[in-house]
Amino acid sequence: MTIPTLKQLYGSAIVARKLIGQSSRPFLPRHRLEKLRDRQIRRLVRFAASRVPYYRDWFNQNGLDPHSIVNAGDLKRLPILDKELVRRQPELFKAQTGIAKKALSFLTSGTTGEPIEVWHDRTSLLANIAYGEREREPINQMCGGSFRPKELYVGYETSTFKAVTEFYAKSVRLPVQPRRRFVSLLEPIDNIAAMINAEQPDILVGYGGWIDLFFRTIVARGIELHLPKMVMYMGEALPFGSRELIEGQLGVPVLSRYNAVESFKIGFYCQQREGFHIHEDLCHLRIVDPNGVDLNHGEPGQVVISNLVNRASVLINYPMGDIASISPEACSCGRSFRLISELEGRSEDILALEDGRFIHPRAIWQQFKDEREVLQYQLTQHESQRFELQIVTLNQSAYEPVLERVIPELQALLGPSANIEPHWRADLIRHPGQKFRSVVSRRVE
Ligand SMILES: [Zn+2]
Repeated sequence: MTIPTLKQLYGSAIVARKLIGQSSRPFLPRHRLEKLRDRQIRRLVRFAASRVPYYRDWFNQNGLDPHSIVNAGDLKRLPILDKELVRRQPELFKAQTGIAKKALSFLTSGTTGEPIEVWHDRTSLLANIAYGEREREPINQMCGGSFRPKELYVGYETSTFKAVTEFYAKSVRLPVQPRRRFVSLLEPIDNIAAMINAEQPDILVGYGGWIDLFFRTIVARGIELHLPKMVMYMGEALPFGSRELIEGQLGVPVLSRYNAVESFKIGFYCQQREGFHIHEDLCHLRIVDPNGVDLNHGEPGQVVISNLVNRASVLINYPMGDIASISPEACSCGRSFRLISELEGRSEDILALEDGRFIHPRAIWQQFKDEREVLQYQLTQHESQRFELQIVTLNQSAYEPVLERVIPELQALLGPSANIEPHWRADLIRHPGQKFRSVVSRRVE
């Protein structure tokens, strides 16, 4: 073992200090949690009003005293950000401080093309390691109390993943190194299955779309697999029906994390698996209707977040583009962090039809859910009446019979004048750097 550098010692000290109290934080009584959250909000808003160009101008123009924003409820007095503005002029949201100058730059893996640049300050990046303690706890518990569960991580080495890994290697010496093996998701499924059988990881980690495809293929082809103790998906929603297959049929619990380049910690699953517990003191989350008005608990709407810890890019009331609802009930696990539902898709996944109807991705899934030979599908709306349907089937001979069943159903759903062009694919549908979505609307308004 080499001697840690001064930088690593400093980084490790920050992580150690932030670690204090992390595992009990999700169990704080509500009133203490809310007090903590509101204090974070007040600090953030005052910082934004004095150091961040967009907010400085906004408070000046609107004659509002930033000190009048005292709690989470007051955030509705601030504007909901226009994502296009953040995309075009990210520096408007970057603090004008020495710390922000030394911040690390990250790019979002947008679903609609052009990425957004977000800077994270170094201290909040280091603290993020400590915050991870909250998410590790239910995992370690479910892996039989193992302190270092063995992980197989299937993904891309995205720019974010690489940048964070490199930064941590340089800046911190972790007391416990994760036992993680990384493998590219472009690797054939047979190879990954063989790797799992050889190494027997406790946890299999991957993107929602890939996890779904992997287990569907395993079941459809009857591939023998040493089942992991749990599956963790992230980055994108798990396609409908997938949880039933992996948990119900195979008996492997499925957990998830909700994170994004805009906020590295948003939510995490506990062992009850009823939704994401929101890291309320790190990221405030609202659910709003199309006019930006807060919805009641239980009502689905747009997810709007405020990253309370980052002091480089300051994003308050930032629309994620996800649809979800906050649960009116507390979780039975005893954590006081509120739950949000599984993400119900992205706002741009909703198909708008000529006749004024809106089609939710769930309605499309209904047409495929009993097609056991369909491993993956993607329906893309290119123009209001022109749809492309890509289907990955178990083998090519399964394709035609599937089309004969599915096309008439889709035609009925999308309307008689919809033109559906089907294509067969042998392999995974995926565009590097973009999230997988089973329904995509590219319709130009
Ligand atoms: Zn829970």
